Amino acid sequence: AGSFLSVSDLHVSFATEDGIVKAVDGVSFDLQRGQTLGIVGESGSGKSVTNLSILGLHDPKTTSVSGDIVLDGQYLIGAGERTLEHLRGNKMAMIFQDALTALSPYYTVGRQISEPYRKHLGASRREARERAVEMLEKVGIPGAKLRVDDYPHQFSGGMRQRAMIAMALVCNPDLLIADEPTTALDVTVQAQILDLLKDLQQEFGSAIILITHDLGVVSRTADDILVMYAGRAVERGTVREVMRSPQHPYTWGLLTSMPKLTSAVEEPLTPIPGAPPSLLAPPPGCPFHPRCGFPGDVNGGRCSTERPELPEGRGAACHLTPEQKHTIFTERIRPR
Ligand code: SF4
Ligand code: MG
Repeated sequence: AGSFLSVSDLHVSFATEDGIVKAVDGVSFDLQRGQTLGIVGESGSGKSVTNLSILGLHDPKTTSVSGDIVLDGQYLIGAGERTLEHLRGNKMAMIFQDALTALSPYYTVGRQISEPYRKHLGASRREARERAVEMLEKVGIPGAKLRVDDYPHQFSGGMRQRAMIAMALVCNPDLLIADEPTTALDVTVQAQILDLLKDLQQEFGSAIILITHDLGVVSRTADDILVMYAGRAVERGTVREVMRSPQHPYTWGLLTSMPKLTSAVEEPLTPIPGAPPSLLAPPPGCPFHPRCGFPGDVNGGRCSTERPELPEGRGAACHLTPEQKHTIFTERIRPR
């Protein structure tokens, strides 16, 4: 209660031929209006699945979802498809990585942008077209009055991404979920799109969930960060806290493998060795222990037997003591 969006103890699992996949395993977070939460993790960390569950876009035949998702006082898990359909586009909207999957090649950009507006707000054709021009202007498409009648293939990649943002915002949603919205774009356009999202957020007051594998993107855009690994939330804090004094060895790995956008020469990255575990048979104990360089620092070999829990508020799901987290980060990780 008290939060605009509250997700508590979310579990999402899929039945596959090989067994049950626990894609999301007990994730909780809160988000206020006008705030941006960055959810960071590798592919398969459960970040996209978490957000598809919020939108109610999972397949109910194969997916089981439990926990609570409350948006502005309304419980979304267990809400009927009609309710969810009404909320999608009107109260919550989504931006995807690839605009080409969201935009149809057969209709003009303007028609697609205004479609949700007509559907949810019952606007006339003319009103809808005017609204599409207005939205294209808002997202910075030059010559919007003419471009409104273009087809998606006549737009550049960056312009299509802007058009998709216009489509997502046309009904003034309170919650915007952006899944890797800039991954397919070059660095300059990426920065422009992120700045655009921030400006629009100020204007519309929306809450934003930004899903990305890139800590650089969240540090530029978000207020809070939730780091996910193997279906679990492993670290939570404000952007400042997580970027300055990260507490989880996985976050350290993400930080040190982050490319420096400011350097002229491309610096070699230090990727985290190994791969995320299978969610069919996750390892016992800490899910990160097969890849973590620090289990030896934890007394009693607990890393491979006892699952660390993420505390409420600021913190990390890791057995290292707060002093160890601080010392290891400042003395062994940060100087590199
Ligand atoms: Fe590494 Fe152990 Fe912390 Fe897991 S609990 S991240 S294995 S130190
Ligand atoms: Mg994804």
